[in-house]
Amino acid sequence: MDITRIFPDDATAEEWFVKHRWPAGACCPDCGSLNVQERPTRKPQPYRCRDCPKDFSVKTGTLMHNSKLGLQTWAIALYLLSTGLKETSSMKIHRDLGVTRKTAWFLAHRIRETWRARGARFSGPVAMDEVCIGGKERNKRESKKLKAGRGSVGKTAVVGVEDRNSNRTAATPVESVTKVTVGGILGETPDPDAPVYADEGSLYGSLAHHESVKHSAGEYVRGKAHVNGMESF
Ligand SMILES: [Zn+2]
Repeated sequence: MDITRIFPDDATAEEWFVKHRWPAGACCPDCGSLNVQERPTRKPQPYRCRDCPKDFSVKTGTLMHNSKLGLQTWAIALYLLSTGLKETSSMKIHRDLGVTRKTAWFLAHRIRETWRARGARFSGPVAMDEVCIGGKERNKRESKKLKAGRGSVGKTAVVGVEDRNSNRTAATPVESVTKVTVGGILGETPDPDAPVYADEGSLYGSLAHHESVKHSAGEYVRGKAHVNGMESF
């Protein structure tokens, strides 16, 4: 019910997609120009780049590219597929959205393919941060305590990276946060030449292009070298 209240029709869904894709105003998907003319009555491509000149919509260059399905359908399908506790079947999409089985399969396939699309490197600048997730040892019942030490004992370490250009994020659990594991993730994910921003810590000391922020000294943002986005993620 909530999701149909949030996206009662295609127009509200379009507003939502536009706001999230282009928080600073429509941007040409082809040349990146912000010199864009909005022509709300010109559907299905209500934007024109004054520099290219190219016509486009909020779907252009996304997983919704070349699809005639309404944006409300896309928004709700994305919601169902990303919140389902188990893998959401295309039969569920078919029933819940009242679309044909063929359309439901197409939606599920496109969305899952996009999630699987990896391999493209983060060209940066890249922000990274690590966190230990799990209950505090001292709050656990005696039988559950690991009695193996202090601090991060019993927690799972997770390292995350965020590409400042594309806003893509990736996170992975690691055995322990050491120079080797962090270096391994950086080696796998971002471009080796990408600048890396991280908070203070000896872990990152050996990494090239590294700029750090000293949280312990009350310094949270220094120019571009902040990790706020990564921390909230
Ligand atoms: Zn353009």
